[in-house]
Amino acid sequence: MEILERRIREDGKVLPGGVLIVDSFLNHQMDAALFLDMAKEWYRVYHDKQVNQILTIEASGIGLACMAGQIFGCPVLFARKQKTRNMSGEYFTSEVKSFTHGTVSSIYVSKKYLHPENRVLIIDDFLANGAALDGLISLVEQAGAAVVGAGIAIEKTFQPGGDLIRAKGYHVESLARIQSMGDDGSIEFC
Ligand code: 5GP
Repeated sequence: MEILERRIREDGKVLPGGVLIVDSFLNHQMDAALFLDMAKEWYRVYHDKQVNQILTIEASGIGLACMAGQIFGCPVLFARKQKTRNMSGEYFTSEVKSFTHGTVSSIYVSKKYLHPENRVLIIDDFLANGAALDGLISLVEQAGAAVVGAGIAIEKTFQPGGDLIRAKGYHVESLARIQSMGDDGSIEFC
């Protein structure tokens, strides 16, 4: 997606270890107009797939997912990284290894909001090693619901997540696909 790639080129900062900082417009300060265009692009791809729920993970996916929920006209559910008291006993859970911290932690959604008849589009900001997406897919499948596909803002194709998830047969639609990032700050798109 041209405008997202341009924005990444203009405002993204490359850190060592294959990390891209886009906190001026994507995952700290958020550009809502850009998010709306991104949600429309996911809608163009998935509009005929009877999506009736959006799922993401807190915190960075929530803004994007809300915009998608508005465009698809369906509720938005986010997986929590901590169990809340009113979830006790009544939740689906899976484990996710954090790309940024390297730690493994559990994510949770209440059973109240994920049902077998749901057709779920998963939204997230980044796809790197695929752990977050894999964990979200697991939550949907524990509920017996259908994973329609995933909408990702930025996929780093030099990290293995996209290939791993697609090899399992899931449709992953990434709006910007980064092939390489140099130590000099350069960014190459696919
Ligand atoms: P994965 O689970 O695919 O390894 O990583 C995805 C998650 O890690 C995303 O939800 C995102 O929060 C974080 N992440 C992965 N790569 C990057 C990156 O280059 N920059 C930032 N800011 N977050 C990232």
